Amino acid sequence: MKELSALTGFTVRNLRSTTLVLLVVASVTGANLWVHRGSPPVGYGRYDKHGFSMDYPLNMNFNEMGLSGSKASDASGSIQLARQDETLTQYGLFWMGPEMLATYLEPTPEGALNMVFGIAGLEGTSISSRGELISSTKDGHELVYQTIMIEEPGVSIPAIIGAWYCEELGRFIILYLFYVPDFDQIEVLSPAVEPMWLGLVESVVCHR
Ligand SMILES: [Zn+2]
Repeated sequence: MKELSALTGFTVRNLRSTTLVLLVVASVTGANLWVHRGSPPVGYGRYDKHGFSMDYPLNMNFNEMGLSGSKASDASGSIQLARQDETLTQYGLFWMGPEMLATYLEPTPEGALNMVFGIAGLEGTSISSRGELISSTKDGHELVYQTIMIEEPGVSIPAIIGAWYCEELGRFIILYLFYVPDFDQIEVLSPAVEPMWLGLVESVVCHR
């Protein structure tokens, strides 16, 4: 996926220049960041387009992008957020209707994940391993997620990615997160990642 590889490129550039950063101090912990209803809290913006909403910290680098060269639309798109301070945090949300899935894929959350992996592979982002699928629910929707390893030259970055289908919205939502609290242990999945990822899922309002 162009967006994913572009952002992982951004990440690796930053990893290579960690001595230049480490200036902004802002704690990134799941619990206090991604709880919202009503208006967004101070320091947060709200993405409220294409039928769903999600609050995000304004001190993160925010991008809205289309899939496969198109513009973000009701049919498909993504938002990507990244920040590096004393940690590295990046997450992204993709949305796509079932019609966007390749015909050989099942129109299920797992199929949507396979679609994202397929596009990412074509765009040069290598996913070296995929953990067992974990099943859960999101506001009554079936939710599946798994750990993955994203391969960049010289480094493997663990992440969590998952998907659900919102019947009311008529679209899949796919969310990934990687969070590296310790640059000496980039390749180790921090125990903080799963609760953070679940907090992100919680923060998405996909139907009202
Ligand atoms: Zn929903």
